[in-house]
Amino acid sequence: MMTLEQGQCGLCKHFGETHEPTERLVQIRVHGEGPEDYIDECGHPKHADLHLKVTPISGCDGFEPVAEAA
Ligand code: SF4
Repeated sequence: MMTLEQGQCGLCKHFGETHEPTERLVQIRVHGEGPEDYIDECGHPKHADLHLKVTPISGCDGFEPVAEAA
């Protein structure tokens, strides 16, 4: 389990944006910790067509913080 920092996918609103949030995704956001074995789709408009899959500890310049943990 990795502690997440701002700028990483696990705390980005586009992480898993393409589907309803799973319990696991909510837990990642609430606890700010990223399991190494979790992979989800990035819903950023520039990536969505490519179906980019990322881990909670990945990141890019398209990062936007998730508003509030659900
Ligand atoms: S790849 Fe970039 S835009 Fe997509 S979830 Fe990660 S930080 Fe957010």
